[in-house]
Order: sequence, then structure tokens, then C-alpha cells
Amino acid sequence: MKFQLQAQKETPFGIARAGVLELPHGKIETPVFMPVGTLASVKAMLPHELEELGAQIILNNAFHLHLRPGAETVKSAGGLHKFQNWNKPILTDSGGFQVFSLAKIRKVTDEGVHFQSPVDGSKHFFTPESVIELEEALGPDIGMILDDVIALPATFDATAKAMRRSVAWAARAAKHRSRADQSIFGIVQGGLHEELRRECADALVQIGFDGYAIGGLAVGETSDQMDEMVGRVTPMLPPEQPRYLMGVGTPRDLEAGVLRGVDMFDCVLPTRLARHNVAIISAEETSGIAGGFQNLNMLKAVHKNDFSPLDSRCSCFVCQNYSRAYVHHLSKCSEIAGARLLTYHNLWFYQKWMRRLREWILQ
Ligand SMILES: [Zn+2]
Repeated sequence: MKFQLQAQKETPFGIARAGVLELPHGKIETPVFMPVGTLASVKAMLPHELEELGAQIILNNAFHLHLRPGAETVKSAGGLHKFQNWNKPILTDSGGFQVFSLAKIRKVTDEGVHFQSPVDGSKHFFTPESVIELEEALGPDIGMILDDVIALPATFDATAKAMRRSVAWAARAAKHRSRADQSIFGIVQGGLHEELRRECADALVQIGFDGYAIGGLAVGETSDQMDEMVGRVTPMLPPEQPRYLMGVGTPRDLEAGVLRGVDMFDCVLPTRLARHNVAIISAEETSGIAGGFQNLNMLKAVHKNDFSPLDSRCSCFVCQNYSRAYVHHLSKCSEIAGARLLTYHNLWFYQKWMRRLREWILQ
């Protein structure tokens, strides 16, 4: 992996960056938003559509793919890229968060985490080493390490304990990796405690990773608290390496992260909202850099005879060819095409939003 910064811009909140990240399956212009394809499929989209709407890298989830179809199947298919017919970069999340949030029974020890599959109740054991092996078998361009995710709200002591266990796991993961063509990112934990975040960041940098993620945010704290913590963590990380804010967020959250020096984002929001009949569209706003946005509920009767596009300022395929009235009709009838059109437009909106932020930095 090569990461080159093209421009840095001082903002009231930190230093925004534009760069190019070179991975085995292609170059990515940052800051970048990664559409989420948990099960090796960005819901309702095919790979050629993702390419058309400007996606440069997508996210898959190692936890889910371990349960179904299993790493052996993906490996036999020739790896994740071949399996899902996506030839651009892929990042896999390790599943630390999913083990925590989805598994029925979960027991964490210093060795690893025992859990029962939410799919069929079968028993599994993840260790930092087994997750590295899993990701090396799946073959993404970037893999995330396994970390210990705890329930919130948590005490300082519980947060510190989970963070230190995650650091110990990070060291084991780094030692165990064997694929030179795959990058591995460490994950900075520590809740809303700056001193814990610093201890974690220092320890991870000492171990040495290809990039660094900020985890454990967007889990119930306010946007202001999240922004502040992001602004405190980014200066703790090596400027010459990529930074990834996990699971975030709304267009506003992405802009706030970029202004504080984050390079990469992922979130289910644009695709999930689409499947719930919501279009994310442009809105009048002068305060933001990338513009304003609003959510439009397409089920509302007001759209029934509105033959204007979803977003009059959008140049995507959907807005060029379909009306609000048609998407409203599809949404009312739960037609699959409705979810497809909204997903396409929402992801296009996110890609355009990131390009505008990037251009602002470059200028
Ligand atoms: Zn559009």
C-alpha cells in the first residue's frame, strides 16, 4: 500500500487532507466514502452500477462471510474480488463489533472471543490470529484487526480494560500476518476518554500498522461529542498514513470528519435509508462546505403527482430518467426497483459529496 498526500488544509477543527491511496486493486482518491457490502454485496446494487456511480472501494464483513458462505468457499472462488465480480479495492471489517452486537452468546477472554452464530447457533471462537487468517483467506486489499467491543455506557475502568485487551490483540494480529500484499489497520479505542485514546493510539503506532481506524464512535454519543473526539484523535496518528473513521455517518458527519483529518469512511446509512424509501437530496445551506442535504420520505402522498426528479441538482442516472411520482409509486407498492433507484441515487449523492470536499481541499 502506498499513501500520498496531495494537499493539506488548515480548518478551524484540524487539518483536512486530500490524498491518493494505492492498493493492489487500484488507486483511491481520498477522502473517500466506502459503500457497505456486508455479505459481499452492496444491497440492491451490482458491481458495474457501483463503478458507474463512482464507488472506488467497498467494505465487506469478515464475521458475516465466515458464517456464510465460509472462507473456504470464497478462497476456492479465487478470493473476494472474483467471488463478487468487483475488481476494485475491498476493505474487510473484522467483525469485532458484529460479534458484540449480533452474537447470541458471547464470552470474551484474553485469548479471544467465544460466540454462537446468530444464523444457526453453531459455536465459534475468534482470536486475533484466526481473524488475520480469515482475512488472508478472503483476500481484501485492507483487513481490520479484531478488537474487544464493549457495551455502552461503560465505566472508565471497563473502557480501559477493553482497550488494553484490544492493544494486546493488535500486537498478536500484527505478529501473525503473512500476506505482504494485504494491508492491516489498527483500531483506536478508548470511548470518550482522551487519555485512553492516546494510550491506545501510542501503543498501536508503536506496533506499527499500515493505517489507523477510529472505532467505538457513532454508538450513541452526540454528534458534538463524536466530532470532538475525532478532532483529538487524528493528531495522535502518523500524518503520512491513512485514517479511517468506522461506521460514520450522515453527510454532515463525513464533512466534520474530513475537516478534522479523516481520510476514509463507511456507513450503511445511504443504502439502508434507500431500502426504507428515503432519498438523501440536496438542500439550501450556506454554512457547509459540500452544501446542504435533507432526507425525503418517498412514501409521502405529496410525491404522488410530482414529476420532478428526486433531486433537481443531481446528475445521476435516476434523477435524469425518473420522477418522484414514479419512485413514490414503486415505494408504495414495495417494488424492488424502488429500493434500487433510491440506493443508486443515495450512493451517488455520497460520492459527489466526498468529491466536493476533496476539491475544496485541493483548491
Ligand atoms: Zn440522483
